[in-house]
Amino acid sequence: MRNLENKIEQKIKNTIKKYRLLNKSDKIVTAASGGKDSTVILYLLKKFGYNVSALHINLHLGKYSDRCQEAVQELCKQQDIKLHVVDIKKYFGTRMCYIRQGVQQNTNVSNCMVCGIVKKWLLNKEARKLGADKIVTGHHLDDESQTIIMNFLQGNLMLGANSGPETGSLKDKKFVPRIKPLYFIPEKDIKEYSLAKKLPVIYEKCQCAVSSLRIKVRAFMQNKPAETKEKIVNNFLKILPRLKKQLHQQKIIYCDICGEPSRNEICKKCELLNLNNTK
Ligand code: SF4
Ligand SMILES: [Zn+2]
Repeated sequence: MRNLENKIEQKIKNTIKKYRLLNKSDKIVTAASGGKDSTVILYLLKKFGYNVSALHINLHLGKYSDRCQEAVQELCKQQDIKLHVVDIKKYFGTRMCYIRQGVQQNTNVSNCMVCGIVKKWLLNKEARKLGADKIVTGHHLDDESQTIIMNFLQGNLMLGANSGPETGSLKDKKFVPRIKPLYFIPEKDIKEYSLAKKLPVIYEKCQCAVSSLRIKVRAFMQNKPAETKEKIVNNFLKILPRLKKQLHQQKIIYCDICGEPSRNEICKKCELLNLNNTK
């Protein structure tokens, strides 16, 4: 096990160095869900000596959300990490389930799509308020290879133009760059690491993750070896600079409704939530 621990830690350090993801002086906010991925990267960044705090968004998905928040609180207490909790009800007046049900009355976007857009919007806004230089997320090799396949299946690799170990193509004072130090780490290794270190983690899956394209792609990719997933991301990284170049040509403006950075007059979050007349 010691070998796996050393291998993972070294690989993450190499990714941070190779892609210049972090500086020791950076103020880092890690999006901490209570799941294994964000818990492991939060734990490791603290271990590596970075100036890191945790940001947890409580989505009020029943008891599941309570357990997730408790796990994050436990880790932060154990590791002496500052924790910021954002309550979705305080922002939007209701739970994530109601937000997405409202949106889905008028459009057929998946549960995770609505949730993901709202979380991304909140994360940027809250991290900026905290003065963060970088937002760290727990996306890993399996997530990233699935996303590339999904974009391909949707006939639009440009959807991934803002990805890679650093989501840095949006250069704007109101946008906090998001980085993924676990980009090259297989999910199963992260799970093993979290178990070996006995980290407080919620392993159960979110009940709302149903019927999305990701679930189908995940099932298809499940038994593929890590080398296949590495090939997918490495090949994608070769064309990413060209995609980013195209993306850079689009201007960043501020959303007419919420004032957050956006490529269009109305940002994705407001576009979705306005279908439900919720801001
Ligand atoms: S699995 Fe989907 S619905 Fe559940 S928290 Fe994650 S993004 Fe939201
Ligand atoms: Zn907006």
